[in-house]
Amino acid sequence: MKETKIILSEKEMPRKWYNIMADMPNLPGQPLHPGTKEPIVPDDLLPIFPMALIEQEVSQERWIDIPEEVLDIYALWRPSPLYRAHRLERLLNTPAKIYYKYEGVSPAGSHKPNTSIPQAYYNKQAGIKRIATETGAGQWGSAMALAGNLFGLDVTVYMVKVSYDQKPYRRITMETWGANVYASPSELTEAGRKALAEDPDNPGSLGLAISEAVEDAATHEETNYSLGSVLNHVCLHQTVIGQEAKKQLEIAGDYPDIVIGCCGGGSNLAGIGFPFVHDKINGKQVRVIAVEPASCPTLTKGEFRYDFGDVAGLTPFLMMYTLGHDFIPPGIHAGGLRYHADSPLVCQLYHDGLIEARSYHQTGVFEAALQFARSETIIPAPETAHAIKAVIDEAILCREEGKEKTILFNLSGHGYLDLQAYADFMDGKLSDYEYPEEKIREALSKLPVL
Ligand SMILES: *Cc1c(COP(=O)(O)O)cnc(C)c1O
Repeated sequence: MKETKIILSEKEMPRKWYNIMADMPNLPGQPLHPGTKEPIVPDDLLPIFPMALIEQEVSQERWIDIPEEVLDIYALWRPSPLYRAHRLERLLNTPAKIYYKYEGVSPAGSHKPNTSIPQAYYNKQAGIKRIATETGAGQWGSAMALAGNLFGLDVTVYMVKVSYDQKPYRRITMETWGANVYASPSELTEAGRKALAEDPDNPGSLGLAISEAVEDAATHEETNYSLGSVLNHVCLHQTVIGQEAKKQLEIAGDYPDIVIGCCGGGSNLAGIGFPFVHDKINGKQVRVIAVEPASCPTLTKGEFRYDFGDVAGLTPFLMMYTLGHDFIPPGIHAGGLRYHADSPLVCQLYHDGLIEARSYHQTGVFEAALQFARSETIIPAPETAHAIKAVIDEAILCREEGKEKTILFNLSGHGYLDLQAYADFMDGKLSDYEYPEEKIREALSKLPVL
């Protein structure tokens, strides 16, 4: 069979990031100070972020230059390949054309180094010595450990306790790249000690780990905080993915009808999707779909309102679809999708009808992952498998309706450090878990009224 793998040369790598804030019909509501509830000013963020990133956070310039040093490191694995999923198409007997961009080729195995590298770069430039951050499943922690190692920054990672226990190989990856990793909640911070005092068996959550990392950064000189998703500058850095994919599809003589990405905090969806939302705003017919777990259904079941980004309420209020900041998601396997809210940019675009969203249960998601692994060979991360489930559903719909659509998705990472989840699925140990409406309402009812 003729394979289709489209690779760009290093010269064709994007040299600018695309900032969708230049084109959005409505900008997200301004972030508000957690104390005064007034719009924050850049100086409020200086204790934890370097000015260059704060500027990107608020910039409305459409194109932002990627520094040479960052391009040099990107070139270790970028441009990433684009594949046509011929075997999956044949398996599904679909007239649809399925393409995937493969971000698992980065050293950390996911799209996340696209932002950890520039974040480490700008922090180094600002004279910072240490980064404090959190990680859910361990993917972001690995990406930050990698970047810290490359730029000579110390890295402290607060890793959600369930993952710390379930995913020793991710922890070892981080430690191999020189990071210090602590199970969260930890005894190292006020937020962690408080959570442990209330419940010594607290399994942790991304929101709680964020509180610990922010507190660590805010209380130590020369230490900054770094976030792997959600924020505008993170979404910005990921747009190299969609820009490359567009060029690669052009070479294939194609343009997508549908672009699909899984959605945890929204940066990977932003990366593959925003360059196409740009086209959509300019009149092109293209659908962009965010896929989330039914057990953490932020866009599909959350409320669009201001909420904190963390459990302790240390971060600014952000305008997001949220399930409530003290929402502790059940221990599903796609740890990277377990966040109570989403990027304000993704949320605003969803609110304005420029992005669609849907959710799936994990057993259906793992069935899709096996179909993909057995046809296309790559074993996808459980997070990515959510996108694959949507791709398969859309491709089957094409068969039923006799339509030959072009579908593009981002294979955000490989699953070679998530094999326990595959084992559990194949042993019949995974079950579906719909987060009960009442629990969501309860978490939402506790939110401060602004
Ligand atoms: C973190 C992660 C995601 C979720 O990314 P967001 O940008 O937060 O939505 C998806 N896939 C993989 C492989 C990840 O590591």
